[in-house]
Parts: sequence; C-alpha cells; structure tokens
Amino acid sequence: MNNKEPIISISNINHYYGRGSLRKQILFDINLEIYPGEIVIMTGPSGSGKTTLLSLIGGLRSVQEGSLKFLGNELYGASQHKLVQLRRNIGYIFQAHNLLGFLTARQNVQMAVELNHYVSQQEAIHKSENMLKAVGLQERVNYYPDNLSGGQKQRIAIARALVNHPPLVLADEPTAALDKQSGRDVVEIMQRLAKEQETAILLVTHDNRILDIADRIVEMEDGLLTRDAQNKRDH
Ligand code: ADP
Ligand code: MG
Repeated sequence: MNNKEPIISISNINHYYGRGSLRKQILFDINLEIYPGEIVIMTGPSGSGKTTLLSLIGGLRSVQEGSLKFLGNELYGASQHKLVQLRRNIGYIFQAHNLLGFLTARQNVQMAVELNHYVSQQEAIHKSENMLKAVGLQERVNYYPDNLSGGQKQRIAIARALVNHPPLVLADEPTAALDKQSGRDVVEIMQRLAKEQETAILLVTHDNRILDIADRIVEMEDGLLTRDAQNKRDH
C-alpha cells in the first residue's frame, strides 16, 4: 500500500485551545499517514483529542503548528477559500446523522451532489437513488428521516458522504447511537463501498466490536497518537 502517495500526511501537529493563561495543549506531535483505500480506525478515551484531530484533517479548523497535507496540498497557512475547496473532497459522517428533516432520503443525498457539481437535476436524482440502493435503502428513497430507524438514517448519511466518490471519508463515532446489529451493518456497508471506490476512511470509535474492519488501528491518549495497535500486535 505504501508505494502510493498518501491521501493525508500529517507531521508534528500540535494543537491548542484557549488563549493566554487558559491556553491548553490538546494535541502533541501527531504524525499519521493515510493511503488511498485504507480503513484506519482511531480509538481512545473521551477527551483525548480524536474529534479535534478529525476537524483539522477535515479542514474544519485551521492548523496551528506542524504540517498537514491533503493530496499533497499543505493546509498549514491555507486560506479559508482553500479549506472550502478541500472540504469538497471529503465525506463526513458524524455520530448524529445530521440529516435535514424536511427533506426525503433522496433529497438529503441529492443536496450533496448539487452542492459539489454542476449536474443536471435528473443526473443528481439518478446518482442519489443509486447510492441509496448501494446502502440497501432503495425502498425508502422517498421517506423522511423521522420515519426511519437510527440505522437507516445513518445509512443515508453514508450515502450522502460517498455519493461524490471522495478520496477520503471522516467518520466520528458513526455507530455510537446504534444497536449492535445496526452498527455492524453500517460499518460493513462503509467498508464495502470504500473498497469499491478506493475511498480511504478514518473512523473514530469506542466500539470494540467493529475493530476487525480496519486495515490499521491507531490509538489516541491524552493528545498523543500511540504506535499502531496493529503493529503492536505484529511485533
Ligand atoms: P475526543 O473526541 O477524543 O473526545 P476532543 O477532541 O473532543 O476529544 O477534545 C479534546 C479536549 O479538548 C477535551 O479536553 C475537550 O474538553 C477540549 N475541547 C474540545 N473542543 C474544545 C473547544 N472548542 N474549546 C476548548 N476546548 C475544547
Ligand atoms: Mg469526539
């Protein structure tokens, strides 16, 4: 896998919240590379800095110290305009599905297509319906989120994140609100689509039952990214 250029290349990232005497360091000398099509799971206790790191990678927060490259583009010192461009290449899946309640499943996905590309409405509808079919919701395209289960809503969120075939998907505890079986289904769908589309996934989870879908596991503790759990096992 390492003969390819990384999607994400992070070196010596530090991050702080607060100002003056309240300034507190949250991330310490983070180094991480993620390659195309790779599924990386990040575990670690609550408050250890996982969401902060994800928000930096996703261009939702500015890099304060260190280097973070997305497809070779440096995000340290990048303009807001560049960060907006970057976000178009990333699919986001959050713990809460963040769907719009007044839009149907198809319209929620379609909105992501239309925000990103100049496509005809017909093509956007076609792409959205295909993606909903890929996550097993072909019978539910015209349902509103309120009439669907938690697992189904999260599958719409997956369809929305992947419909533009981004090179990277960031998922922050996507199974936290789901029961065991729905959580399992959701990550297996993500895994299958990621492999089909060569999308890299960085997935934060507390859920030990889904660790087996990862190509690699990393652990965050007190703002430090510890050595690969995978490597730890191998050595
Ligand atoms: P995790 O996702 O691993 O639970 P977070 O990245 O959310 O960790 O938080 C790491 C630390 O940073 C925690 O101590 C949290 O309270 C603090 N923190 C998170 N967001 C902010 C913020 N916007 N302002 C100040 N402190 C924050
Ligand atoms: Mg978090």
